[in-house]
Amino acid sequence: MKYVYLFGKNINEGDSSKIDLLGGKGANLAEMSSLNIPVPPGFTVTTEVCNLFLKNYSLKKSIKYDISKALKLVEKSISKKFGDIENPLLLSVRSGAKISMPGMMETVLNIGLTSKTIPGLIKRTGNSRFVYDSYRRLIMMYADVVMEKAEQKNDINIREKLEHILDRYKNKRSIVNDFDLTTEDLKFLIDKFKFNIKKYLKVDFPDSPEEQLWGAIEAVFKSWNGKRAVQYRNIENIPHDWGTAINVQSMVFGNLGETSATGVAFTRNPSNGDNKIYGEWLQNAQGEDVVAGIRTPYPINETSKTLKTNKNITLQKMWPRIYDKLLKIKNVLEKHYKEMQDVEFTIESGTLWMLQTRTGKRTGEAAIKIAIEMNEDKLILQKEVLDRILSKHIDEIMHPKVDPKLEQINEAIASGLPASPGGATGQIVFTADDAEKWHKKNKKIILIRHETSPEDVQGMHVSQGIITAKGGMTSHAALVARGWGKACIVGCSDLNIDLKNQTVKINNITYKKGDWFTMNGTEGFVYDKKLDLVKSNFINNKYFLKLMNLTNKYKKLIIRTNADNPKDAKLSKKLGAQGIGLCRTEHMFFEKKRIRSVQKMILSNSSVDRKGAIMELLPYQKRDFYQILKEMAPNPVTIRLLDPPLHEFLPSLKNEKLIKNLAKNMQISSKNIKNRIIDLFEINPMLGHRGCRLAISYPEITEMQVEAILSACAKLINKGIKPNPEIMIPLVGTIGEFENQRKIIFSIADKLNEKYNIKIKYKVGTMIELPRACLVADEIAKKADFFSFGTNDLTQTTFGFSRDDIGSFIQDYFDNNIIVEDPFKTIDINGVGQLVKLATEKGREAKPKIKIGICGEHGGDPKSIYFFDDIKLDYVSCSPYRVPIARLSAAKNSIRNNSA
Ligand code: PEP
Ligand code: MG
Repeated sequence: MKYVYLFGKNINEGDSSKIDLLGGKGANLAEMSSLNIPVPPGFTVTTEVCNLFLKNYSLKKSIKYDISKALKLVEKSISKKFGDIENPLLLSVRSGAKISMPGMMETVLNIGLTSKTIPGLIKRTGNSRFVYDSYRRLIMMYADVVMEKAEQKNDINIREKLEHILDRYKNKRSIVNDFDLTTEDLKFLIDKFKFNIKKYLKVDFPDSPEEQLWGAIEAVFKSWNGKRAVQYRNIENIPHDWGTAINVQSMVFGNLGETSATGVAFTRNPSNGDNKIYGEWLQNAQGEDVVAGIRTPYPINETSKTLKTNKNITLQKMWPRIYDKLLKIKNVLEKHYKEMQDVEFTIESGTLWMLQTRTGKRTGEAAIKIAIEMNEDKLILQKEVLDRILSKHIDEIMHPKVDPKLEQINEAIASGLPASPGGATGQIVFTADDAEKWHKKNKKIILIRHETSPEDVQGMHVSQGIITAKGGMTSHAALVARGWGKACIVGCSDLNIDLKNQTVKINNITYKKGDWFTMNGTEGFVYDKKLDLVKSNFINNKYFLKLMNLTNKYKKLIIRTNADNPKDAKLSKKLGAQGIGLCRTEHMFFEKKRIRSVQKMILSNSSVDRKGAIMELLPYQKRDFYQILKEMAPNPVTIRLLDPPLHEFLPSLKNEKLIKNLAKNMQISSKNIKNRIIDLFEINPMLGHRGCRLAISYPEITEMQVEAILSACAKLINKGIKPNPEIMIPLVGTIGEFENQRKIIFSIADKLNEKYNIKIKYKVGTMIELPRACLVADEIAKKADFFSFGTNDLTQTTFGFSRDDIGSFIQDYFDNNIIVEDPFKTIDINGVGQLVKLATEKGREAKPKIKIGICGEHGGDPKSIYFFDDIKLDYVSCSPYRVPIARLSAAKNSIRNNSA
């Protein structure tokens, strides 16, 4: 078994096909080496070694031997020796899992600096300040990662202590920047650091290069199981048994002086997708300075400038030759990977080195634009475009933003770097813990921090948006938030945070925990008010439209929408809905005037009174159906007959005023009304007198609705429009129920055909939303033109979980691993899904051409859509805003099935 793979010019052994073993970073270092991109040589220790190590926390002798052998070859390739007193090689040790987990695991730099190697390196570089600065960094990192965290001495906080010593020293001498520390300053600090390490950690800082190296390797492996890494994997669904690889690489230095620098760049703009390299750089600094946000980095070119960095010098202007090299590397990388890359580079005394490349995280807007443009440039196929766009990307471009009109009239109180787009509004809190607590109380939160660290991920995850006082576009907060599509502003230096008092002072105004803020993550502005958000204008985004066109080319499944008013019907058509799969007619009655008539209908004691109330509804229904059918013609509109859970419509007994009004209107006493409400009270309303059960008791409801639907059709036909109504009977469990209602529909249709002297075309079908209906689907299919699975009720009745009450205990089910996904969100394939499959098969056996779809909430959930497509339903129907995701999911599934 090979456990160690070399990379670098002329010694490369790996490639990207070994990503499981080498991790993302290792695989990419190998790929870059074979592309002749300058990469400092090194080697990758595989993920298998990590898993072996974590079994008993020790490295096998044979593996140690392989590592030492690889180190010898690296030494040879770079003509330096690890631990050599004249020409010492320094190493970095970095984690690298298969999927990037930004900042979640550890890194140690400058390994190999000891009392013996320091003089040699000073002689070689002629720069003692640089050498002691590197040593100072090694001590800080090593003490934290290897000597404290890996040894689980967690409460000592050695890093904070050392930082505190550094800050105090700088303050005392009025030194602002780390790079202003002199050799003498650094030597003094190093002694002080070592003294404190011994004092708190009870061991000396290791002065042997080998001890440093093995310590770092083991610590990085251990960090795979660190608390924050485990938390992150839980959130991102990354398997815990993957393990991390480790990359041991020769150090190159961006802090060697004025001709050295470090930087990060995306090969395209990660916010909007523009095909222009986008990045930041820092002169005379190491990579950690950019990522940690200690100094605000400069833009690498004009397009990378922001309001904050407008006046800073760009890399392009400062060193055009190096910038051009970087551009060439961008092209090589994109041609090779056919993907936007996120690279880290170092310039050591005028020489450019690439330290890593990986697929860059991006916003939804950027993801769509990049994929479409790469297809247009013939870098990737259409199928790959669809494969690359995730439903979260579409979700994200449909994100709200701060109402621009309100932004015009409100003054921003602070501004920062626009790290991740979108608007957010919420109450401010200052710790990730508070964010979690307040989120549990259903509050909307904006998390404000000096800077975030991986310890904060849980709190960041539940926040609407994140604002940090420090940091650049590639700081931790920026990367993580962008990955999640969450609004984020970083480097907001106007913020003066007082953690002790839980306040933030901005321009002399103090805001406290709980105050409302609104943020515009696209521009970087902060407001001290709750401002309205508006939905995004994705509908005019040409790349989004191109993507949507592509979905049509590949998908087989028809996508309909759930809409109960002409406005939603119109919107859904724009979003690509091919019909309405569910028009919930009870939703048409929520308007004040109409709800009174419904209440009168429900509360009536006599059939005559009920008919009177129902007839009040007829004109509204006719008008609505006319408009909806017209909007969707000639596409089908499935209109479901009334299915009102009674409790949603009954007035409360406490609402004296309403009861009085109703009594007056119905010309009966208030007492009478109250008695009727008591009579109608149901213990389990969701399993009560609803759906077709209500219409079996009160056939006049069905009569009125069918009259409204078909007379609207007659009117449309007379105007030359072709309505396509599908009348759907809800909550059917027996063929008898279905036939009872169908008879009424037929008789009204006959009456109207005669009245208008035309033949109105319509279909009659049913919801399949009860287990019994699934079991007798063949019987029903013989009489029905179509089925539509109501997976909300079917989930409720199959599990026996009340869809209204499950929220109070579902968390316990997650916590105990009884269920992994909410079955009301993603279809339970093994249970409810099997009923859907069975009913589909039975239905088609009885009537091969029967049309079958699904209109429960699962119709907009990607994973559920894959399942419905696999069992060959004709359509799914979901809310208008989920139509694009449904189209994408259906296209992805077709591609997957065809290539399988
Ligand atoms: C269903 O039960 O899945 C359904 C679509 O109907 P409703 O949610 O209106 O009960
Ligand atoms: Mg239902």
